[in-house]
Amino acid sequence: MLTRSIGRLRPHVVRPLRQSALIGQAQGRKLSTLNKLEPKDVEHFATILPKTSILSTLPPIHGSADDLDPFNSDWMGKYVGQSQCVLKPRTTEEVSKIMKWCWERRIPVVPQGGNTGLVGGSVPIGSEVILNLSNMNKIRTFDPISGILVCDAGCILESLSEFLDPHKHIMPLDLGAKGSCQIGGNVSTNAGGLRLLRYGSLHGTVLGLEVVLPDGRVMDQLTTLRKDNTGYDLKQLFIGAEGTLGVVTGVSILTPAAPMAQQAIFLALPSFATLPKVYRAAKRHLSEIISAFEYFDRQSYNLVSGHTGAKALEDSEIGDSQAFVLIETSGGDANHDQEKVNNLLEELYEPADGEEALINSGALSQSADQFASLWAFREGIAEAAGKSGKVYKYDISVPVSEFVNTTNRVRERVGHKVKEVVGYGHVGDGNLHINVIAETYTKEIEELLEPFIYEVVASHRGSISAEHGIGKMKPQHLHYSKDAVSIDLMKKIKQLFDERGIMNPGKVVPM
Ligand SMILES: Cc1cc2nc3c(=O)[nH]c(=O)nc-3n(C[C@H](O)[C@H](O)[C@H](O)COP(=O)(O)OP(=O)(O)OC[C@H]3O[C@@H](n4cnc5c(N)ncnc54)[C@H](O)[C@@H]3O)c2cc1C
Repeated sequence: MLTRSIGRLRPHVVRPLRQSALIGQAQGRKLSTLNKLEPKDVEHFATILPKTSILSTLPPIHGSADDLDPFNSDWMGKYVGQSQCVLKPRTTEEVSKIMKWCWERRIPVVPQGGNTGLVGGSVPIGSEVILNLSNMNKIRTFDPISGILVCDAGCILESLSEFLDPHKHIMPLDLGAKGSCQIGGNVSTNAGGLRLLRYGSLHGTVLGLEVVLPDGRVMDQLTTLRKDNTGYDLKQLFIGAEGTLGVVTGVSILTPAAPMAQQAIFLALPSFATLPKVYRAAKRHLSEIISAFEYFDRQSYNLVSGHTGAKALEDSEIGDSQAFVLIETSGGDANHDQEKVNNLLEELYEPADGEEALINSGALSQSADQFASLWAFREGIAEAAGKSGKVYKYDISVPVSEFVNTTNRVRERVGHKVKEVVGYGHVGDGNLHINVIAETYTKEIEELLEPFIYEVVASHRGSISAEHGIGKMKPQHLHYSKDAVSIDLMKKIKQLFDERGIMNPGKVVPM
C-alpha cells in the first residue's frame, strides 16, 4: 500500500492579469460597419452608472490608458485590444440600459468576466466597449435541500465554492483559474475543468439563465426547475456562446452535495502505453467514487518541478517514468473508499494476467493538505508554462490512444523552434492540452502550428476546442470541427440575436 507523506508542494496560485506588448490590431470586417465611441456615449453611460464604475480615456472621465490595460490585455498577453472605455454595471437593469444605448448607436461591446479565457474572446479586437461583470457579484438564492444556487454572473468561481462550503455543497466545476474566473464566464465558455468526469458539463448542471440581449431586452429564463419541456431550450444557446449572443447576468446552477471523503492518488507510469489499462482498472475498481482522472507527460512533470521546486515523488521513485496520472476519488465513506483504492493499487502493481506492473511508483494523499498539494502540482502546469515563456495553447479532443502520438507530432514539427512542448489533459473527457512554449510569439511558429494541429485533429474526427472555445483565435479554423451546414446555422443564429453585429464582433463565428 502507498502511504508516502508528501508536503513540499506550493499552494495553488492563479497568475494575475498582466500587460504585454501590442501584437495585433486586426479589425474584424464587422467592426468597420459599427460606430466608434464618442464623448457623448461616455456622458450617457455616466447617467446610468456612477463615475467610479466607468474607466475611460474620453471626457467626461479623462482616465489614463494605463488603467484600461489590464482589461485590454488577455491572461496570456497574446491578445491586446484598444478599448477606450470599461463599464462595470452592478445590476441587470444597468446592463440592459447600456446595451440598449449601444444597440441604438451601433457601438460594439465585449462582455468580460475574469478575463482568464485562453482564446482571445474576452478582450476587444479593436476599440469595443468592455462590459466587465465583476461588480455583479451577489448570491441571489440558495436552497440547501435541492442544492440549487442562483447568483449574479460576476461571482468568482472560488467565492461560490467558499459560500457553499458551510452548506456542505460544492460547485459542479473546478478549474485552475477559479480564483479569478466568474461563473458567467464559465457558462459563456462552457468551461469543462477537473470535475466534468463526475458531474458532467454545464449544459446539464445549468438550470436557468438571465441574459441581456444585444438590443437591451432581458431574457428571463432563470428558473430552478430540473425538468422543463416547454419548447426550445434557449438557454443552451448561451452556454458556450462566448458573449456573441448576449450578456449573461444571472445563473441558476445545480450544486452537488460535498463528498464526505476524498483522496488523491498520484501515479508514475513507465510509459503512456500502460495508461489505458490503468484507466480501465481505475474505472472498474473505483466505479462511482472516481471523480477525476488526469494525465501529464514527463515534460510537464519536469516543467512544474523545475518551476516550483516541488516533487510529487522522489527522483529515485520516478526513474525514467514517462507518464503521470492523478486520480481523485470522492465518496461517502472513507473506509469503504480506501478499500477500493487498495484493490486498485494491488492490481496496478500485480496485474491479474501476470503482466509487468502497470505503474512504477505512486503516492496517496493522507490529509487535506497533501490532497491539495497533489492537485496543485497538476494545476501548476499552466502557470509553469506561462512563467517559462510565451505559450501557444491548444485544447483538443482526440481519442485517448492518440494523446502521445499527437503531442509527439507537434514536437517533431516545432520542437527545434521552441523551448518545450508539453502534453497533459483530462483523460476521462478525452481532452488533451498541448502547450507549446516559445521565447516569443512569432508568425513563423504560428504558421508551423496552424492549421497543422487542426488537420491532425480533423483526421481523428476530434474537436479543435474541447473546452477553451473559439474566441478570436479559431473562427477561421472552425470548419475542421463543424460541417458547412452547421456553420451556416451558427451564422443565422448570430444574425437572429444580433443583426447589428455589436456583440463581441469577430469572435466564434467565421466572417
Ligand atoms: C490557469 C487557467 C486554467 C484554466 N483551466 C481551464 C479548464 O480546466 N477548463 C476550461 O474549460 N477552461 C479553463 N481555462 C479557460 C477558461 O475558459 C476560463 O478560465 C473561464 O471559463 C473563463 O471565465 P472568465 O470569467 O475568466 O471569462 P473571460 O475570460 O472574461 O471571458 C471568456 C469569454 O466569455 C465571454 N463572457 C465572459 N463573461 C460573460 C458574460 N457574463 N456574459 C456573456 N459573455 C461572457 C467573454 O466575452 C469571452 O468570450 C483556464 C484558464 C486559465 C487561465
